[in-house]
Amino acid sequence: MKKVLVLGAGQLARMMDLAGSPLNMDVKAYDVRSNTVVHPVAPIHVYGDLAHGIAEADVITAEFEHVAHDTLATCEASGKLLPSSQSIKIGGDRRLEKQLLESCQVPNAKHVVIESKEDFEQAIEQLELPIIFKSALEGYDGKGQWRMKSVDQAENIWQEMSDFIAQSKSLVPQGIVAEQMVPFSREVSLVGARNTHGEVAVYPLTENHHTSGVLSVSVAAPIQENLQQQAADVFAKLTEKLNYVGVLAIEFFQVGEQLLVNEIAPRVHNSGHWTQQGADTCQFENHIRAIAGLPLGSTHLVRPTAMVNILGEDTVPNEVLAIPSLTMHWYDKEKRAGRKMGHINISGHDELELAQRLVALANILDDQAFPDLAQFAKKYL
Ligand code: ATP
Ligand code: MG
Ligand code: MG
Repeated sequence: MKKVLVLGAGQLARMMDLAGSPLNMDVKAYDVRSNTVVHPVAPIHVYGDLAHGIAEADVITAEFEHVAHDTLATCEASGKLLPSSQSIKIGGDRRLEKQLLESCQVPNAKHVVIESKEDFEQAIEQLELPIIFKSALEGYDGKGQWRMKSVDQAENIWQEMSDFIAQSKSLVPQGIVAEQMVPFSREVSLVGARNTHGEVAVYPLTENHHTSGVLSVSVAAPIQENLQQQAADVFAKLTEKLNYVGVLAIEFFQVGEQLLVNEIAPRVHNSGHWTQQGADTCQFENHIRAIAGLPLGSTHLVRPTAMVNILGEDTVPNEVLAIPSLTMHWYDKEKRAGRKMGHINISGHDELELAQRLVALANILDDQAFPDLAQFAKKYL
């Protein structure tokens, strides 16, 4: 049995545990808030502190990129951390992320790094409106972002960003990345894995739909070969450059026939949850395989599959379970407005059947909790 320690004890660690146990992997999680090694999500068993967890583990990985740098350094010093602390830090700092994209000549939105008021003013001159300002270190689910449509907003936005940074507890110097708003036709993401032997396997591109800045629906269905190839090339370039090991996700904006990278996540990703049902091997198993030095499992799409996030709700009507080819995945987390509480995976033999089932699901679910689902589902009909 191989022992895996995951930095972070949320649903991603839990799903690594669920996928790892049939492979005889013992997955434990390090809860950064309590400095204890626990069973993922439901910390019934406490196994000790970080030092104990590191000593026990064969391999250490992370379920999120905002891990304290000293924790990463301690884990890396054990020689067991995969992916590397550098890869994890890049995913947690938009400035480093942009540097990586530039150094690999990967297309992305025009941007300027802001460290002072002068930089801010220059950014407004250098980039065309609308501009999106993003906290370099702290954003997720669309938080820590400000959108500027007109220069009249400049003072307000500068003030809000300054307040946001002043409230930060981070010891790393804060900054902002200003990006040109991209007029994309849709957002897609690529999830893939690279193992310790340098073997790579990527899943089919997934189309993603956001509601108020949070991922709400992902759909994996056959997609144009040229887009898949572009995305796979970017994946190969970035993971080779980083000598990356594990699952990595890349979010893209599609503009015409071109993909521009939005951001990367050095971990299993919400837009890859559909792989639990729609692919030969799920992303969680492939992450475990990759870091354990095992051959990667096939990433083949078995049939068109969608994932619907359950945000801020801890129950759905039981009739949902009567829809064919549908599975529920609750995370056992405390209910909070807008929080990712679980997800639903749903498949069809073809895109039409998947769309029909999504419409059936939308008809059962509350419109308020899932405001755009019906509309999104109909797009596929
Ligand atoms: P995540 O939860 O995916 O980590 P995040 O907080 O890191 O989100 P981004 O992915 O950078 O934020 O942005 C959130 C969303 O805002 C994007 O999915 C996209 O819809 C929109 N967005 C971000 N940057 C741009 C841009 N340059 N042009 C147009 N839309 C953008
Ligand atoms: Mg992000
Ligand atoms: Mg994102």
